[in-house]
Amino acid sequence: MGQNKPPMLGRVLIWLLVGILIAYALQGVFGVGQQDVTQISYTTFREHVTAGSVRRVTVKGEQIRGELKTEAMRVGAENDTTRYKSFITYLPSFGDDELMSALRAQGVEIETRPADDSSWWPMLLTAILPLLLIVGLGYLFITRMSSQGRNIMGVGKSKAKLYDRSQEETTFDEVAGAEGAKQELREVVEFLKEPARFEAVGGAVPKGVLLVGPPGTGKTLLARAVAGEAEVPFFSITGSDFMEMFVGVGASRVRDLFKQAKESAPAIIFIDELDSIGRHRGAGLGGGHDEREQTLNQLLSELDGFEPTQNVIVMAATNRPDILDPALLRPGRFDRRIAVNLPTARQRAAILRIHAKDKPLAKDVDLERLAKATPGLSGADLANLLNEAALNAARNDREAIENADIEEARDRILMGRERTGLVLTDEEIDLLAYHEAGHAVVAAALPHADPIHKVTIVPRGRAMGVTQQLPEKERYIYEREYMLDRLAVMMGGRAAEQLVFDTSTSGAENDLKQATQLARRMVLDWGMSEKLGPMAAGGERRQVFLGEEIAHQKNYSEATARQVDEEVKAIVDGAYARAKETIETHRDILDQVAELLKEREEIDGAEVTELLDSAGD
Ligand code: ADP
Ligand code: MG
Ligand code: ZN
Repeated sequence: MGQNKPPMLGRVLIWLLVGILIAYALQGVFGVGQQDVTQISYTTFREHVTAGSVRRVTVKGEQIRGELKTEAMRVGAENDTTRYKSFITYLPSFGDDELMSALRAQGVEIETRPADDSSWWPMLLTAILPLLLIVGLGYLFITRMSSQGRNIMGVGKSKAKLYDRSQEETTFDEVAGAEGAKQELREVVEFLKEPARFEAVGGAVPKGVLLVGPPGTGKTLLARAVAGEAEVPFFSITGSDFMEMFVGVGASRVRDLFKQAKESAPAIIFIDELDSIGRHRGAGLGGGHDEREQTLNQLLSELDGFEPTQNVIVMAATNRPDILDPALLRPGRFDRRIAVNLPTARQRAAILRIHAKDKPLAKDVDLERLAKATPGLSGADLANLLNEAALNAARNDREAIENADIEEARDRILMGRERTGLVLTDEEIDLLAYHEAGHAVVAAALPHADPIHKVTIVPRGRAMGVTQQLPEKERYIYEREYMLDRLAVMMGGRAAEQLVFDTSTSGAENDLKQATQLARRMVLDWGMSEKLGPMAAGGERRQVFLGEEIAHQKNYSEATARQVDEEVKAIVDGAYARAKETIETHRDILDQVAELLKEREEIDGAEVTELLDSAGD
């Protein structure tokens, strides 16, 4: 930003005003334009006339100006002398009957003017000056406003910045980690470059791509890299830009932005910080959010209003997907979500290498080790860390960044982080690693469980760690055995905590909730309980708000309800027992997986399976 046009017109106006004011003042006070005019007494004037030394006079009302044939001298009060040729004097109020004949006798040229004809331009000025002042000040106000990025003239215009390739030099190479996101975004770029190739194979590329991830993970950076890589116009705007200052402009800005983009298609629109407009409608308190709702509605209708074939792709970024209006996420809008996660140790090392490229590092600096010592830090934190380290080095008059500078910076940043609760102690990491390893080992060992895709102790969303399972095939029918194994996997985390540390943590909350829910459905809806037998006690499920909430209609007796609860508990307990048994059998594998997790923070499911298989041989 900040490339405001110099307010040329404004400056010209100011100088004009100042000039006019000065001229006006001079005219009034000193009577400029009548230089060398000396005021003389009427007597002196009459003497000049009698002496025949006056060449001409101009009479205007009482005022007589005149010019002498030769210079005369006037002696002032303090004996100072003034030589003059032009003079001014005033007719006595009682008049001078003889003056006319005297002048005529001397052959003086006489000019006369109407008494009230003061010269025309001061008159004009008094009329025009206030007007000029108002216009000038108004203009100043406007330019001042627009230099702060608020242009009164163009309020409704979108403030989207248009990047062109020559300006944006960020490329995907500057984004470390985030491989998945980069891959998907590359596809988007390719589509815009060669839509024909995708259309030929009937590939539909999404209209809306939403980058989702915690702050500082490089979402904006990725978008800039897309701009740098794509050879198409790239319109970028921040959500809050839609909202600022003038009521009623957000919606028209959206309209304008999409219009511009369509005109220059193929093109990319990027809306950063989408949550500032895309918040759940009606969620605001006090009803003061009409502005945002209008803007959001406009955005929704623009998203619906163009076809994928128009070659406009809308990208957006947010770190609060949870508060987005669900309407934004419906198919045909932002239907492709790309997760940008906090980096793992290996990815942190890569990010550090990128940001250390143009910084001189002393020999004792080990970026790999630093990466391992900075769990939970985002890309932005890491970039910041190296900058701080560089500042420390400069402060200490060093030519290169030494390990001590880095340690100091790291401590400061981690300390700031601890307050926000994102940095785990070693014990917490231990617990977390065993918890996830528990899920993973149970999943790998039980025959009916879905294979593991990834195990990670890098926080994802609200979860501190995740064991991701991917079903081998799409499932429509779930067997009891599958359900039971699944339940055991859910309990694996808690079981490992108990077995290894003889404690339980709050980290299992979600596991327990999910397991209880699943067990309940097994009993109530699927008739999978041995005691209750094949009956669906759950009754009708009714959709309340568009599938968001499901209300239960109880149509069973209190006695049955008690039985249901007992059955649910039995199933969950059984699952826990199986999980515990499984990890006891494979305790060595559990330890190995936990170790791997602590070291690398993320491992592939296949590694767990291999460990288990090789142990079984
Ligand atoms: P977000 O938009 O997700 O909050 P940004 O894209 O603004 O994060 O990231 C801020 C800065 O942090 C970037 O300009 C970059 O210097 C650094 N950064 C973040 N993630 C990465 C990454 N994956 N690789 C390299 N640098 C990164
Ligand atoms: Mg950002
Ligand atoms: Zn868990």
